[in-house]
Amino acid sequence: MTDRYCVFGNPIAHSKSPMIHAAFAEQTGEDIDYTAIEAPLDDFAGAWRRFTAEGGRGANVTVPFKEQAFSLCDTLSERARRAGAVNTLLLGKDGLTYGDTTDGVGLVRDLEHHGVSLAGARILVLGAGGAVRGVLEPLLAAGPASVLVANRTAAKATALAADFQDLGAIQGSGFEAVTGQFDLVVNGTSASLAGELPPLPATLFAPGATAYDMMYGTEPTVFLRWASGLGAMPVDGLGMLVEQAAESFYQWRGKRPLTAPVRESLRRAL
Ligand code: NDP
Repeated sequence: MTDRYCVFGNPIAHSKSPMIHAAFAEQTGEDIDYTAIEAPLDDFAGAWRRFTAEGGRGANVTVPFKEQAFSLCDTLSERARRAGAVNTLLLGKDGLTYGDTTDGVGLVRDLEHHGVSLAGARILVLGAGGAVRGVLEPLLAAGPASVLVANRTAAKATALAADFQDLGAIQGSGFEAVTGQFDLVVNGTSASLAGELPPLPATLFAPGATAYDMMYGTEPTVFLRWASGLGAMPVDGLGMLVEQAAESFYQWRGKRPLTAPVRESLRRAL
């Protein structure tokens, strides 16, 4: 019998996840059905309950439900507990709901694909919202020399950095306090959505640096255009999207799909 999965969001019509998981299923020979479901804003738990009652085995969770998904889980992975958010739900044979977050590992794998070395790197992460909280644990686990989290609201960056202090050399600040040079700058703000650029010094990229924007689209974001002009290698978040999906697929099916062909066909379809 075909196992059912879905992605929950609101809105969700433009999600690329059904296309990605259909490609993974075809590639690995797994018999799954994966759809996009718009959950009501005030009752995410009800949507998950109904889905599992109708045979649903697992789900991805996107904006704005990652915190609500976190709250309904019976058990959580350590990285989800750290992130305070869940993007992957799995219904166990015991009927309990297990939650994980795969966004961070998705970013780290995509950086690896692009040949970006994290060990010993000086990393600047822009933003202090849910996406950034989700990536700090795997970034710190890769052994960078330092991680600076910079945010428009400085207090959120310092509070976030304090939560991850036990995992490595991490600090938080406002944009105006950013000085020095970085090997990797990750834009995890939603400024790109508005076509805006965080106010940053033009001197922040070290020679050979990488600029990563978690956002993606048909055109490079304003952050990536700015970074390219300063000599950094630009990478957008399309690969992160595919890699987080592959990690969710692995949680559900125990198989790791090849991501490169899926990333390429998704890029062509943008
Ligand atoms: P949140 O709403 O939780 O956080 C938004 C962050 O952006 C905050 O730090 C906010 O600062 C900052 N911000 C918003 N507008 C501006 C601006 N004009 N200038 C500077 N900073 C700004 O969002 P998320 O963390 O969930 O998502 C952030 C981005 O990451 C989105 O673009 C999202 O699409 C992307 N993303 C991509 C993924 C992928 O797979 N590629 C996965 C997850 C997210 P302040 O605290 O001051 O308000």
